[in-house]
Amino acid sequence: MSTINSFLTPPAARLSKPATSSRPITTARLTSSASPPPSLIQDKPVFAAPAPIIHPIPREGMGKDSYEEAIAELEKLLSVKGELAPVVAAKIDQITADLQTENGSAALSPAVERLKTGFLTFKQKKYNLRPGLFSELARGQTPKYMIFACSDSRVCPSHVLDIQPGEAFVVRNVANMVPAYDQIKYAGTGSAVEYAVLHLKVQEIVVIGHSACGGIKGLMSFPYDGSSSTDFIEDWVKICLPAKTKVTADHGSTAFGDQCVLCEKEAVNVSLQNLLSYPFVRHGLVNGTLALKGGYYDFIKGSFELWALDFSLSPPVTL
Ligand SMILES: [Zn+2]
Repeated sequence: MSTINSFLTPPAARLSKPATSSRPITTARLTSSASPPPSLIQDKPVFAAPAPIIHPIPREGMGKDSYEEAIAELEKLLSVKGELAPVVAAKIDQITADLQTENGSAALSPAVERLKTGFLTFKQKKYNLRPGLFSELARGQTPKYMIFACSDSRVCPSHVLDIQPGEAFVVRNVANMVPAYDQIKYAGTGSAVEYAVLHLKVQEIVVIGHSACGGIKGLMSFPYDGSSSTDFIEDWVKICLPAKTKVTADHGSTAFGDQCVLCEKEAVNVSLQNLLSYPFVRHGLVNGTLALKGGYYDFIKGSFELWALDFSLSPPVTL
């Protein structure tokens, strides 16, 4: 589906830096410590896997009857909790019905069936056909690439770039953004970059933007006037606010849709610059063991662009 149409020289690197209620608590248990973990997908023909995937977890010594009594009590309690009660009660009915089936198992939902079919297909068409690769991967991974891609369901880099198992250490998030080094706020991203660079010793970090990115559209749309309409998204995509600033300054009269396309690419450049704030990334660049690339996948046109970040050391200056 994707065709590499062009490899572009880098857009001019910029030096600007990005601007930098209580919740209900839900707990869940998969199994008691005394039981084996539930198997949703097993490493054998999946159609032979035990059907139940959600096990009611009775307390130790708690029989089926007492479990049902607890459910009944919960139903009674929820019945006075307003509009959500019917929904929750229906779910409890379903779980209870599952419990009451002859062998204690429930029919698999279409969603689970799809996952099982998917794994079976992978197992038959890839895993079983490449025993050498997978036995090698069992000993460890040495991916050449670290890839940042959007969480968008249409842009999986493994599909778009035909990335094989073991080839890329991948981080996917909303709008494929790399925040600047921040040990407190962005430990998730930082730990991924640290692990990829220092331990896996990847040779290339590639940040891939894409067409029709909802995260970038949000970035271009949010007013950032002190108001907020999201719990996380506005603050997250603000990482690439310098891209929005540049696009609106340089292309203020351009149609909004076209501005978004420009921002989808500029945001990649902001992320590449943010990578320079990681000491181990800078060290790799200086030593020539690491390179940074920007990419843009247009799934409307079926094209892929790739560019390199210009990186050079300034000549020494005597003061
Ligand atoms: Zn996106």
